[in-house]
Amino acid sequence: MALNLKISIDQDSGFCFGVVYAIDMAEEILAEEGYLYCLGDIVHNDEEVARLKAKGLRIIGHEQLAELKNEKVLIRAHGEAPETYRIALENNITLIDASCPVVLKLQNRIKTSHDNEEKILVYGKHGHAEVIGLQGQTNNEAIVFQDMDELDQMELPASFTLYSQTTKSTDSFYAIKDELIKRGHEVKAHDTICRQVSNRYADLGRFAVQFDKIVFVAGKKSSNGKVLYEVCRKSNPNTFFVSDPLEMQSDWFNENETVGICGATSTPRWLMESVQKQLEAY
Ligand code: SF4
Repeated sequence: MALNLKISIDQDSGFCFGVVYAIDMAEEILAEEGYLYCLGDIVHNDEEVARLKAKGLRIIGHEQLAELKNEKVLIRAHGEAPETYRIALENNITLIDASCPVVLKLQNRIKTSHDNEEKILVYGKHGHAEVIGLQGQTNNEAIVFQDMDELDQMELPASFTLYSQTTKSTDSFYAIKDELIKRGHEVKAHDTICRQVSNRYADLGRFAVQFDKIVFVAGKKSSNGKVLYEVCRKSNPNTFFVSDPLEMQSDWFNENETVGICGATSTPRWLMESVQKQLEAY
């Protein structure tokens, strides 16, 4: 028997302008030239990456970039460290720079702090492309940390400048800042979290409470996906995280329930629509 679910997609979920810009740029070149190299996954969403690969997008890593010559390479929204630009120049590579303006601004601020000889702490995820790009502005001297536990293992300078990766949670950032000040450090804190992410907290929370169940769609590698999923789960404990419609199970839902579908800044709308179709088939 059909479950007859009442399904809505959150109109405010989906790609942020940084991701739209990078994908538009890639699609334009793919349409003209049939292929394009991209340094790292263009977006933290495997399904969208697969769609673009089918159009000719070739994802490469930094090692392959060092071997490549006389080609065009797209830099995705996360931005890159200065070293990448140096290699490109050396290898006669034309960079199609789709670094998000919000990330570029943060890179500049960190570079200025470093030039002014400030000690720099970056609240961010180790190994994340954006964070590597930020550290690169400081000759890799900035201290990157993921949580307070990590800072507890280090000897911190008495005074420093604190920045954040653009997709971190604002609540955690301010809690860390307050704790560091309480411990006697002189902290010059810059909340550099992207408003495309943080402005969604309230909207998502309001969306999530309106439904019996929520299906949150995001890639497993997406940082803001994890943050925004938690926001949804706090508002509605009946929230399921999926990266693909096939991960859903019909027994998660009961007859005539209302279901809201939402996602991260890296979640394509077509993927949320596929989730909707799958739900309609139950
Ligand atoms: S989340 Fe913000 S900083 Fe990151 S790509 Fe999107 S607009 Fe740019």
